[in-house]
Amino acid sequence: MNYFSLNFNSSTVGFLEAVCKGLAPDRGLYFPEKIPVLSKEFIENIPNLSNHELALTAIRTFVGDDIPEERLESIVEETLNFDFPIVPITSSIASLELFHGPTLAFKDVGARFMARCLSYAHEIKEQKKLTILVATSGDTGGAVADGFYKVEGIDVVILYPKGKVSEVQEKQLTTLGENITALEVEGTFDDCQNMVKSAFIDPELTNSVPLTSANSINIARWLAQMFYYFIAYKNRPHPDKDLIISVPSGNFGNLCAGLVAHQMGLPIKHFIASTNINDTVPSYLNSGNYEPKKSVSTLSNAMDVGDPSNFIRIQKLFNNDFYKLKKVVSGYAYSDSQTKRALKEIYGESKYIADPHGAVSYLGLKDYLDTQEGNNVQGIFLETAHPIKFAPTVEATLKLKLELPNQVIKILDKPKLSIPISDYKALKNYLLER
Ligand SMILES: *Cc1c(COP(=O)(O)O)cnc(C)c1O
Repeated sequence: MNYFSLNFNSSTVGFLEAVCKGLAPDRGLYFPEKIPVLSKEFIENIPNLSNHELALTAIRTFVGDDIPEERLESIVEETLNFDFPIVPITSSIASLELFHGPTLAFKDVGARFMARCLSYAHEIKEQKKLTILVATSGDTGGAVADGFYKVEGIDVVILYPKGKVSEVQEKQLTTLGENITALEVEGTFDDCQNMVKSAFIDPELTNSVPLTSANSINIARWLAQMFYYFIAYKNRPHPDKDLIISVPSGNFGNLCAGLVAHQMGLPIKHFIASTNINDTVPSYLNSGNYEPKKSVSTLSNAMDVGDPSNFIRIQKLFNNDFYKLKKVVSGYAYSDSQTKRALKEIYGESKYIADPHGAVSYLGLKDYLDTQEGNNVQGIFLETAHPIKFAPTVEATLKLKLELPNQVIKILDKPKLSIPISDYKALKNYLLER
């Protein structure tokens, strides 16, 4: 499979080259030349296949000949080595839990898949060690660090703002060691991001240290998220009903991957783009005008995005046809007080503890299902983070104390290993002298 740039000013590249590059040289996002369509036999046989078999078939054509079958099989197995349970909330609503990975975030799947593809690319090229440089405001850094932990040929350097990530997040970034280094930056997330950007355009640095990013726009992170939708379809509680899936969205990579699965022929009747008050896409779906905004902080902060980077891919999938898109996707947006009320409602209904992102996703699903009376439908909302990652909000809203999951217990007593840095010069020196 070849990938072209959505800025249409770079040459097409194969899967691995697109993974290694991240962004095309013209700064455009890569997009596959065609979306493969799965056979009827395969779709009918989904209930009999394992998660690994499903994922392998789903991703196979996108990878093409760039990774041999056996290797791709082991990459998929290592990517999906935890559970994705579906938990019923009401007779028509269930939660698909995507947070059972090592860092309790749904970003684990994309990060693990990307890490293993890059490691293979590095192996066949036998070049110098690659350094992944990422700035994080919390969740991405943890998933990337863990995804690349002990992966051959790759070092990870993470910049995070001192005192501005939660205790659990800091532990996730700083306790791994080995090929993962955490740099604690005296400054904000924007400072971290600016330092990373400066590094990528500094020839003195990039000529001697091969650098790449693990950004969420990377095709390996984006496409691997498609696996969730195959798993949702396979394990849906009511196979006799039409399936509706609600996706809590920020940069819209996850929803966009679901829409790819849909175009491949996976029978999902409708998608809900659920957001917090950063409602650029729901507004667009209502008005037809796309107006990016400045992002606003909310309780579901992993979705605080005012100009979602993957929206252009969604438009491309529908050939920029607003009406075609609207047939498949509806959008809903919610305030923080609605989110808290939803946390209580879900808990009241079934003792289920959601996190703020899952609560937003639940609300979108419920509002859409209200428009479907008389139709034979069932809904699944994606639960993208473990509630412990948002413990202060969840515990105060539900008036309870959350149990610590093993993934957290394991790291709480480990010593923090980080290197304090204050400016770009310090980052550059560190990368050159290491
Ligand atoms: C990143 C993230 C999202 C948003 O996913 P996108 O693919 O950026 O739309 C939602 N929930 C959680 C917990 C996240 O970390």
